[in-house]
Amino acid sequence: VRARRHLRTGGSTVVLHDDQNGRALVIGEREWNVVRAMDGTRDLVGIAMAAEHNGAPVRADHLAAFVASLESLGMLDSYAPPVPPDNAFPRDVPVRALADYRFACDGAGECCRTYGSVLFTAPEVARACALRPELEDAGHDPGRIFLPAAGLDDTLRAVARRNGACVFLDPEGRCSIHARGGESAKPLGCRTFPIAYLDTGAEIRAVPRPECSCVFEAGGGDPITHATRGGELARETYVPSLPESIAMGPETVDRERFVAFSDSIALGDRDLVLECVALAGDIAARGSSARGRALDRDVSSLRARVTAMRRAADLLSSVYASYHAPSDPIRRSTELVRDALQRLDADLVVPEASQPEDEHLVARVVRFGLRLASGPSVEDALRSLAVRILVARTIDRQLVRHPVAIVEALHRNLP
Ligand code: SF4
Repeated sequence: VRARRHLRTGGSTVVLHDDQNGRALVIGEREWNVVRAMDGTRDLVGIAMAAEHNGAPVRADHLAAFVASLESLGMLDSYAPPVPPDNAFPRDVPVRALADYRFACDGAGECCRTYGSVLFTAPEVARACALRPELEDAGHDPGRIFLPAAGLDDTLRAVARRNGACVFLDPEGRCSIHARGGESAKPLGCRTFPIAYLDTGAEIRAVPRPECSCVFEAGGGDPITHATRGGELARETYVPSLPESIAMGPETVDRERFVAFSDSIALGDRDLVLECVALAGDIAARGSSARGRALDRDVSSLRARVTAMRRAADLLSSVYASYHAPSDPIRRSTELVRDALQRLDADLVVPEASQPEDEHLVARVVRFGLRLASGPSVEDALRSLAVRILVARTIDRQLVRHPVAIVEALHRNLP
């Protein structure tokens, strides 16, 4: 279960998210005070004592009933120690960024409104609270705006949101941590966004995550990284490793073979949806020898995935509607994606690409960033990409500048 705090004028709520079952439970400050005492070391008497110590005493019978209701909802679990990240430091191998790509942030704060969780390490929490101690009295109690990112592990903490944005975003749309402490004071995730790194075994590749309008509008700007070797990256930079083996249809290939495959395929030169479907079908039959077949407008192989994504988007929309305002960007983008999926589920057609240059960039990121290795199999990842592009094409461009960006951002929460 994840807990997230949402601030409103005159108060705040905490939302407990049960990711496994796609549910959310909105609780108040007093209930949260009880939940945060339930750290696996206390019985009911101890929880009541801790709640009282924290300034919110609770009656024993009310506490027992509340804990029983959490249990009946399946929201209690035993303590599991945090899993360390797969590699603590970037390896000192060459760093290579997506060629001929430059990025410029427009400073409008879109990425500060896109995600439900912006994560801070403990030193980042301390720095942010020192720079904005008056914000919800965080200088006195960082727990007013930071909750553990997941379960009881507070190695990483998620910042509260207010009015659909990170609580540190000021009314002018600027990061107030940046404004008071300079760029280096922001959490690393914000400083490096939208860059994603991947260690292939031979080098570290860097690509822009296609999840923000700026990624698609960057004409000038700077290279996404100036690092030429992993040793030049900040020590805490998250650099996951490409899996050692990758499923491709009837075979499993090692990562060297997969990198050679990904670098050799043509993707994004013609209709991206149809290319993905053709290549997925060919891989399912011939594994890593596949190079794609003639394009065919029959996309019935995407049917099951469209239906599964539509169901997940239905559920997510109803969860978000239970605690987000209608204008909240996360709720709004989820509803746009849900509506598009509902239309596709009813009538699975392939519209023409209205923003081929956006799709072309996504295809480059997928190939160079080796993103086809991110699912259970390469053909599965291709079909997932095909559906995401179809959804983006189905969203009304009058409503959003770069539909593919909101679909890619939301994809983190959809199958
Ligand atoms: S910490 Fe600053 S840059 Fe990061 S999401 Fe919040 S407002 Fe945006």
